[in-house]
Amino acid sequence: MAAHSTVSRDCEHLPKEDSEDSELEHIMGRPPPPEGHNRPHTPGTPTLRPAAAPRGPGEHESRTGGQRGRVEFSLPSPISPSRPKSPWGRYDPYDATEDQDKEYVGFATLPNQVHRKSVKKGFDFTLMVAGESGLGKSTLVNSLFLTDLYKDRKLLNAEERITQTVEITKHTVDIEEKGVKLKLTIVDTPGFGDAVNNTECWKSVADYIDQQFEQYFRDESGLNRKNIQDNRVHCCLYFISPFGHGLRPLDVEFMKALHEKVNIVPVLAKADTLTPLEVKKKKIKIREEIEQYGIKIYQFPDCDSDEDEEFKQQDQELKDSIPFAVIGSNTVVEAKGKRVRGRLYPWGIVEVENPAHCDFVKLRNMLVRTHMQDLKDVTRETHYENYRAHCIQSMTRMVVKERNRNKLTRESGTDFPIPTAPGVSDSETEKLIREKDEEVRQPPHTQTQEQECVTQECVDQECVMHDECVQESVQEECVMQEESVQEAEHCAELC
Ligand code: GDP
Repeated sequence: MAAHSTVSRDCEHLPKEDSEDSELEHIMGRPPPPEGHNRPHTPGTPTLRPAAAPRGPGEHESRTGGQRGRVEFSLPSPISPSRPKSPWGRYDPYDATEDQDKEYVGFATLPNQVHRKSVKKGFDFTLMVAGESGLGKSTLVNSLFLTDLYKDRKLLNAEERITQTVEITKHTVDIEEKGVKLKLTIVDTPGFGDAVNNTECWKSVADYIDQQFEQYFRDESGLNRKNIQDNRVHCCLYFISPFGHGLRPLDVEFMKALHEKVNIVPVLAKADTLTPLEVKKKKIKIREEIEQYGIKIYQFPDCDSDEDEEFKQQDQELKDSIPFAVIGSNTVVEAKGKRVRGRLYPWGIVEVENPAHCDFVKLRNMLVRTHMQDLKDVTRETHYENYRAHCIQSMTRMVVKERNRNKLTRESGTDFPIPTAPGVSDSETEKLIREKDEEVRQPPHTQTQEQECVTQECVDQECVMHDECVQESVQEECVMQEESVQEAEHCAELC
């Protein structure tokens, strides 16, 4: 059952007027100071630029290479009388004084339009946490997103856990920060690795991920594709025990079974139970084992050669932090006169957000500030595409097999009965199959009426990826064919 709550922060600073201008102005904040001016930033926050900042008007480019977009704003200046005032007022990229007398078409505002649209729509992100129970998954999630998502959690006793199967639970929370809305879904896997026999206990997790892909595939092949709810899992934080010697067989099995379906980010749990040297050695060992077993964890995109040295160094540090050594805590303690999130021990305090104590801040920044969009892009462009291609392939194979079977049946003029639905005559079924055969035999450039419809729809929706739409219409065709085959099979069963 999905818990649904609303967490709003900074609400008191929201603008009072209802106009979109003020909403956007509020969201975009003040323009950055001129070059060379130091921008204040949150302590412990790297100055990494977003991995997948707008890469073009409404489009994304490939993961490697290409500039990471940085929207630049000009300083306030008078607005040209020859151009209408842009809805962004002083953030108009053409407002610079030297631009006032030049002639422009105006497409430099496209990134602003994309920004405006996506902020209005809001963002969503689905994070899965997996690993043995007791490794601090719930505590870390609560610390990461400053929420309490596990209020109603029921912990099982040892006896109940002997035969425990892996359950999948989903919690959804709407977070709003500075006018930007994020629908965060946390998928938990209680019971994973808890039973006495843990053979294939990763299976229900893999099935869950596939089900979300399947649902999305059905939705986008359906008639109404406007309001598709995207429940695909964008990232899986896999918790590795700090008490073992590197990876356990279960860890290897889990990651190998899921690495083609989801972005796996390994974390070394409860890092406060290890000395800094132990953390370092464990990280090296785990990285070696990941390599040795051919596990494909989430790969951070390469940074461009023209990036500045500081950025490159931060990027490398991030890559070297894998697996992130994390500490979770939901209590606020007092350390050196400051109130911090941490764990209080007789010998001192370990601070969750202190980069000298653990990689918590690095992980949170990676997940939220720098790589959230990239995680979503990889999910869509790689994992979902794999699933989709596989699906279409097996559907096409089924249809071809079925067609050949029907052809054989007809040619031999035999006694295999053509399946008939109740109330549908033999000739009607045959006609249907013949029609489908005809459609399949049509040359690829001949568009059927349905395909034209889809293409028109895509033009209506100003779809840039026209080719993809045409592809999808062919795929819809496959789905329809498969449905008719299934219908026929079902009829045969009924008969
Ligand atoms: P889950 O079953 O994986 O969700 O684990 P929980 O979040 O419920 O945590 C299990 C226990 O470990 C609780 O007593 C937590 O207080 C404790 N715990 C959570 N995170 C940490 C950590 O980073 N370090 C230590 N030492 N204990 C932790």
